[in-house]
Amino acid sequence: MTQTLTNWAGNITYTAKELHRPHSLDALATLVADSAKVRVLGSGHSFNEVADPGDDGVLLSLTALPPAVDVDTTARTVRVAGGVRYAELARRVHGHGLALHNMASLPHISVAGSVATGTHGSGVTNGSLATAVREVELVTADGSTVTIGRDDVRFDGAVTSLGALGVVTALTLDLEPDYQVAQHVFTELPLAGLDFETVAASAYSVSLFTDWVRPGFRQVWLKRRTDQAPAEFPWSAPATRAMHPVPSMPAGNCTQQFGVPGPWHERLPHFRAEFTPSSGAELQSEYLLPRPDALAALHALDAIREMIAPVLQVCEVRTVAADRQWLSPAYGRDSVALHFTWVEDTAAVLPVVRRVEEALDPFDARPHWGKVFTVPAAVLRERYARLGEFRALAAALDPAGKFTNAFVGAFLHPLS
Ligand SMILES: Cc1cc2nc3c(=O)[nH]c(=O)nc-3n(C[C@H](O)[C@H](O)[C@H](O)COP(=O)(O)OP(=O)(O)OC[C@H]3O[C@@H](n4cnc5c(N)ncnc54)[C@H](O)[C@@H]3O)c2cc1C
Repeated sequence: MTQTLTNWAGNITYTAKELHRPHSLDALATLVADSAKVRVLGSGHSFNEVADPGDDGVLLSLTALPPAVDVDTTARTVRVAGGVRYAELARRVHGHGLALHNMASLPHISVAGSVATGTHGSGVTNGSLATAVREVELVTADGSTVTIGRDDVRFDGAVTSLGALGVVTALTLDLEPDYQVAQHVFTELPLAGLDFETVAASAYSVSLFTDWVRPGFRQVWLKRRTDQAPAEFPWSAPATRAMHPVPSMPAGNCTQQFGVPGPWHERLPHFRAEFTPSSGAELQSEYLLPRPDALAALHALDAIREMIAPVLQVCEVRTVAADRQWLSPAYGRDSVALHFTWVEDTAAVLPVVRRVEEALDPFDARPHWGKVFTVPAAVLRERYARLGEFRALAAALDPAGKFTNAFVGAFLHPLS
C-alpha cells in the first residue's frame, strides 16, 4: 500500500499489498473473484492481526458502498450494509421506534466487524451482538452471493466467523420495541463476600470496574430498563459526580448517568459516539469463561493484582448469555467477561497478559477474537468443540482459503 494503514489503537500496521474501496457490489464481487487473498477491514477497532490479509493480500473496505439501513417496522427487523457502524444503525432504528437488544461499550464500531469477532455488551440475559443476527449475505471466494438465514444448518458458523467465509455485504437483525434506560454509577464494591450472581443480575446490564490497585471494584455501572422493575443495589454508595471508567479521562465523554432515563442507544454504550471512546492510548485483552466460575476467577486475578495494576488502565467485568455460534467465545455457556484496558506498551503488557492467561487457564477461558492474547492456537482449538464444523463450512465456501490469513489459519489448521 502507498499509505501506512493502522488499526484504531495504532499497535497494528496492516501489511496488505493493496487497499480497495469498491463503489458497487459488482465491483466488489469482481475484485474478490480476481484476488488470491482477501480480508475485509471493518472500522479497524481490533487490537490484533485478525483483519490483515498479509503482504500478498488485498484489504477491502466497504465504506464506499451505499450505507443501507432498511428498517422493516412490521417484521421488526433491519437489513444493514456491511460497512455501517452501530452509531448510525442505532440512530436509524430508534427513529422508527425500535431498538437493538444490546450494544458494546462504544457505538463507533462496524456491525459486520463486531459480530464477526463475538463482540458483546453486558447482561445475564443478553447474548453477544451476533445473537441479534437472523440472516447473513456474503460474497464468497468465486464472487457469487450466498445468503444464510437462521433456518440454514450453516447458520451457527456464519455470523461469528472471523471474516473467514467471505465478504459480509449485509446482515439482517432482530429488533424490539424502543425502550428507555437509566444509568446509575456506584463506587466501591468489596470483593470479599461478593454475591456475583445477584450483583450481575441486579440490572439489565451491569459492569464492574477495578484498577486492581486494591481488592474490589472502584465503580459499578448499572443500566436499568425503565420498563423493568428496578432492583435495589445496597452494596455500594451512589457516585456523587459523573464518572469515566478510566479515572484520568473526562466524564463528559461518557453517556448520561445519575439515573436520567434516555433512549437505549444513548445509555447502553459507556462512551458517546462524538468523543474518543475509552482512553484512546491503550491495548485491550478480554477472556470469557463460565459465569459460575466468576468469583473464583476474580480471586485468581486478585492474587496477581500487584503484577496487573502497573500496566492497567482499567479492568471491566461483564456478563454474556450463552449463544450457539460455533466460534463465539460465549458458545454454549453463560459467561463472565474479564476485560483489561492496558497501557499502550506492548513489551510491558505482554508478560502480564501471559500471567493473566495462566491464572485463567483452569477456567477454560476463551480470549476475545479482536483483542490482544497469547493463548497458543493448539490450546484454543480445545476450547471450541464445534471447530470441526466451522472448518468444513469454511472449506465448502472458500476451498482455496482465499479468506484465511495467518491469524485465522493458525487457529483453523493445526499444521499451518
Ligand atoms: C475502544 C474500544 C472499545 C471496545 N469495546 C468493546 C466492547 O464493549 N465489547 C466487545 O466485545 N468488544 C469491544 N471492543 C472490540 C471490538 O468490538 C472488536 O474488535 C470488533 O471486531 C471491532 O469491529 P471492527 O469493525 O472495528 O472490526 P475490524 O477490527 O475492522 O475487523 C474485525 C474482523 O471482522 C472482519 N470483518 C469486518 N467487516 C467485515 C465484513 N464486512 N465482512 C467480512 N469480515 C469482516 C475483519 O476481517 C476482521 O476479521 C472494543 C474495541 C475498542 C477499540
